Amino acid sequence: MNENLLVDLNDVISFDALQSHNKNIIVAQGDKRSDSRPAEGSRLGRASIGNPNLSPNPTQSQLVLTYLPPKGLPFPPFSPKRAKGQVAGSSNLSFFRVEFGNMTKKEEFGDGRDDMLIDGDHGKSITDGFSPEYLKAYYGMLFPHAEIFKWMSYGHDGKHPACDHSYFGRREFSFTLDNDIYLRFQSFNNAAELENSIKEKCPFKIDIGPVYSVDPAKRHAYAQAGDNVFTPVERELIFDIDMSDYDDVRYCCSGADVCIDCWPLMTIAIKVMDTALRDDFGFNHILWVYSGRRGVHCWVCDGRARRLTNEQRAAVADYFRVYKGNDNSNKMVSLIGPALHPLLIRSYADVLRGFFEEKLLCSQKLLSIEERFQKILDLIPDEDIAAELQSRWQENRRSSISKEDVNAVRWEQLKHLVQSPKQKALGVRRCVEEIVFSYTYPRLDMEVSKHMNHLLKAPFCVHPKTGRVCIPIDPEHCDDFDPTAVPTLSELLEELNSSRADVNDEFNRTSLGRSVKFFRTSFLEPLLKSCKEEMESTYNAKLQQSKNSLSW
Ligand SMILES: [Zn+2]
Repeated sequence: MNENLLVDLNDVISFDALQSHNKNIIVAQGDKRSDSRPAEGSRLGRASIGNPNLSPNPTQSQLVLTYLPPKGLPFPPFSPKRAKGQVAGSSNLSFFRVEFGNMTKKEEFGDGRDDMLIDGDHGKSITDGFSPEYLKAYYGMLFPHAEIFKWMSYGHDGKHPACDHSYFGRREFSFTLDNDIYLRFQSFNNAAELENSIKEKCPFKIDIGPVYSVDPAKRHAYAQAGDNVFTPVERELIFDIDMSDYDDVRYCCSGADVCIDCWPLMTIAIKVMDTALRDDFGFNHILWVYSGRRGVHCWVCDGRARRLTNEQRAAVADYFRVYKGNDNSNKMVSLIGPALHPLLIRSYADVLRGFFEEKLLCSQKLLSIEERFQKILDLIPDEDIAAELQSRWQENRRSSISKEDVNAVRWEQLKHLVQSPKQKALGVRRCVEEIVFSYTYPRLDMEVSKHMNHLLKAPFCVHPKTGRVCIPIDPEHCDDFDPTAVPTLSELLEELNSSRADVNDEFNRTSLGRSVKFFRTSFLEPLLKSCKEEMESTYNAKLQQSKNSLSW
């Protein structure tokens, strides 16, 4: 028997009531109902039926129906829509979305027949990666608030006498709300304030800014006090690498898209940068994060890195810059001088050459298509060699004698000619390296790294376009990272839904568990240990100093 089950927004209804019948779920607002039909003109929205564990104070026998605003709209749509649905008699209820519009007389519900249509099949109902309501559930149950607070406190939340308890409260957070409303200069005094604000405002994006000299939320109060009172004093050294900056060297996708053929460009950027930051600069606490769509972010969190001035940041960024040519040249990379910098030699030998020759050359078919190989020939400074290769490759267009990949064969031909013993000019010999660097060397967004007050998206945010979570990437296993396999918001909620409720830790009921664990054990714990050590040694040094001055 079919009957309508009418519930008000946020009504709590019994699990048994849903199980005992196949019922149409209708969420109506604001009218008193005497029968199982919503009154004319009542405002209707979408319903989601979650696992009992999704409600704030659940008991095993209750379900909470949550009002879901239609995608892209803050309020229910005012065009009539029909909805129909049934709850299967199973304890394994999945999310269940119901689309409703305003009821009009003509659109009155019938007797539970086809005039009410619910979108989505039972059990497969979360089809989109992102919705504000999923985000709310994510912030409520999965976002690692405590870990983010611990990280941003850098040990100052402890009991050590050297703790600066104002430290966390001077950090800028910025929220981007639905409809692109930006809330800059948010600050919080403790973990609970941060968590409550995130849960309440449900930001589409959370950005992290610098630690200021004073509480950024009260910056105006300090404005009268004089110049430079409100100024950034600490900030992680950050790097932003975006795949859209590689559009001239990848042919599989462009713009916002990535696939497994072009993603390795990000992987090798991580390898080159991570090695240099550790070996050349001696940094230890480095966090790599997937940006949620098409790139990676890097957070260098050592105390030494956080205290770099803007000038020093610019110098570090410049260290990684290989392209120093001018815009008129078609060369992206100019390797000058008799010997390459050790950074470049190491990057080339350990990472870039192998990647270019074994992967990129073939996956992007860099030498098998004329418009592509022409771009590489343009990088050869010897016109005769370029012309010879060009005519050879054009004639050879249709030959399929060799079973070897045509791109690999042609690359060997190019190398053979420019590096032949007859070839004396260093510039010609070095064009092999220049080509490889042009196509593979990390392309940084320099402006992000140079200034302390640049915002960067917080880890574990969800990208609204892809629904994917910005999870950390382990640089030691970055080859295994597949952006297309990163869990989406809806996948995580499905996992929560279908998992056993007796597992206490919500992360561990979903595939986010691994990422949070990695963040804790590989990044956060070693970082906090070193913060504590640093705090202690600074404190002891000061203590010693004051003892010495007293003994005078
Ligand atoms: Zn691609």
